Amino acid sequence: MELTLIDFVLFSLLGSCALVVVFTLISRAAHAYSENQALTRRVICRLCLYAFEDESRDKIVDCPHCGAANEKGRNRRLG
Ligand SMILES: [Zn+2]
Repeated sequence: MELTLIDFVLFSLLGSCALVVVFTLISRAAHAYSENQALTRRVICRLCLYAFEDESRDKIVDCPHCGAANEKGRNRRLG
C-alpha cells in the first residue's frame, strides 16, 4: 500500500489526537495525585478549625494556632 498525502495527514491527525488524550490522562492523574498528597498533609484543627499543612510523618501534630494536638488523616471526606 502506498502512503498518500491524505493518508499521512490522517495519520498525523490521529496521532496528535491520541497524544492529546494521553497527555490529558497523564495530567489528570498527576493532578489527582498531587491533590491527594495535599489532602494527606492537610490538617484541620478539631478545636479552632484552623487549617494548616504538615510535612512531617507524625500522626499527631500540634495546631500552630491554638496548640491542640490533632490526629492526621481524620479530616478526609472519604475513607
Ligand atoms: Zn487549633
